[in-house]
Amino acid sequence: MTFHVGELKIHLIRDALVKVDAGGAFGLVPRVLWSRFLAPDADNMVPMPLHNLALRAGGKTIVIDTGIGEKLPAKQRAIWRLERPQGGLVAGLARLGIAPEDVDLVIDTHLHADHCGGNTRLAEDGMPAPTFPNAEYVVHRREYADASQSNERTRATYLPENFEPLRRTGQLRLLEQDEETLAPGVVAVRTPGHTPGHLSVRFESEGQHALFVCDMASYSIQFAKLGWMTAYDVEPLVTLETKRHWQAWALAHDALLIFPHDHQVPAGRLALDEDGRPVIRPEPFAYT
Ligand SMILES: [Zn+2]
Repeated sequence: MTFHVGELKIHLIRDALVKVDAGGAFGLVPRVLWSRFLAPDADNMVPMPLHNLALRAGGKTIVIDTGIGEKLPAKQRAIWRLERPQGGLVAGLARLGIAPEDVDLVIDTHLHADHCGGNTRLAEDGMPAPTFPNAEYVVHRREYADASQSNERTRATYLPENFEPLRRTGQLRLLEQDEETLAPGVVAVRTPGHTPGHLSVRFESEGQHALFVCDMASYSIQFAKLGWMTAYDVEPLVTLETKRHWQAWALAHDALLIFPHDHQVPAGRLALDEDGRPVIRPEPFAYT
């Protein structure tokens, strides 16, 4: 299935299904509250799908986020409890008739390992090389700066093999602006909080609007509730204000919202319930 936004057709691909500690996913929110929406397993782990998007716009074949990729050794796959019921991103693109060589543009919302691990793959010499040899990859300049100067808190997720090979081949372009149109109707917008250089992607066609929220709200419930966010956010109070801004935008535009890590509600629209509280109305979906 495909999300239609005017004349844009946006395909939802699930690179992988992993599990993470619920403390990471929900941070300060008490378990008695979040567990009504997402049930933890006996180890207090919750499911976290890794969503990627593919679309054509302005003659370009575009991929947004690349999942965790296929470079992980078995030990890392076990830590993530990684499953690939439908294959990964590259298999999902193949189902759409898209070969890696066909991809013109990759938008990296940020450089956490579960969002950009598929940027590169292991070449025959065992070294990481671009998965999409003809693509320009874009990421916000601030995100690249933070990723390439990681610290004790961030270094486990900012893995140079996911982005430095693109610098070497000249395929990585750093976005300077906080809003940049990358193809007709496809706009990268800076949405800081999860990381300072985090991007969401706004779509607009024929008066219809959508937003790949990405980790501004990993799970749909975190978009509806301003105070709910992951413990991974490095600037949580900035996340909160970013969400306040985009909640108003979503209501004003009746926008389709696509979430990066919610397998129950990958997409929905924001509405106000009878008490005036923001809620997400789920949109029907199926993975490509
Ligand atoms: Zn994420």
